[in-house]
Amino acid sequence: MLQDIERYLACPHCAQALTRHDRSLRCPAGHSFDLAKQGYVSLLAGDAHTGTGDTAEMVAARADFLAAGHYRPIAEALAEAAAAAVAGASDGLVADLGAGTGHYLAHVLDALPGTVGAALDISKFALRRAAKAHPRIGAVVCDAWRPLPLRDASAELMLNVFAPRNGPEIRRVLRPGGTLLLVSPTARHLRELVGALGLLSVDEEKQRRIDEKLGPYLEPAGRREVEFTLRLGPQDVRTVVGMGPSAWHTDPERLAAALAELPEPVEVTASVTVAAYRR
Ligand SMILES: [Zn+2]
Repeated sequence: MLQDIERYLACPHCAQALTRHDRSLRCPAGHSFDLAKQGYVSLLAGDAHTGTGDTAEMVAARADFLAAGHYRPIAEALAEAAAAAVAGASDGLVADLGAGTGHYLAHVLDALPGTVGAALDISKFALRRAAKAHPRIGAVVCDAWRPLPLRDASAELMLNVFAPRNGPEIRRVLRPGGTLLLVSPTARHLRELVGALGLLSVDEEKQRRIDEKLGPYLEPAGRREVEFTLRLGPQDVRTVVGMGPSAWHTDPERLAAALAELPEPVEVTASVTVAAYRR
């Protein structure tokens, strides 16, 4: 619930602490944020835009796909890495930057019984689900490219799964010694679909570029690759194309035609790196 994480939240305008007044959160400077009926709060600065958030339909399709367990090995690897990263620390905040429906954060919180989780995302449709994904999740609408609405050194652990990375803000929010766990696709991710459907492929240098971008802020602290085979029907393929790193760059009719050519079900490689970085 939101109450679980309120003490970690910061005003997006002035970075001061927020406290609850009835159905809103307020800072000492008088900035006020109404709590949504669906259990989340929007801490967007006034001039932020929400146009890049996912639609309700996209969110529903992704939630169904994840609930079906197709990406369970990724969630399990993440939970294992989280338990190893915070060994000894029984409480604290886990902040998921680009949390979507809260699927991965919920797995991690199950592995870390004393912690609470902040699901951060730009999509209110995703966060309506995240708010219900686990009893210890608080869901917050924010822009990953702005100062995050979390206090300095507030997080024991941060997660970033197929999502935007804001190195300076991740460093600011992590406590000294805290860990970022980052899941990104390898060049083999969805490779069977890349050719068949004309997707953008993940380039071989992606991991190196991530390391370079985070280098000024965090130190690499171990990584592993997780690779497994997906068996997908046509709707699953449509969903995985939409949710993955490979944006679809052809019109819907061409996609439908290309999908019709695929075997049913189609076997597809899922391949990601789970990398740890320490502040
Ligand atoms: Zn304020």
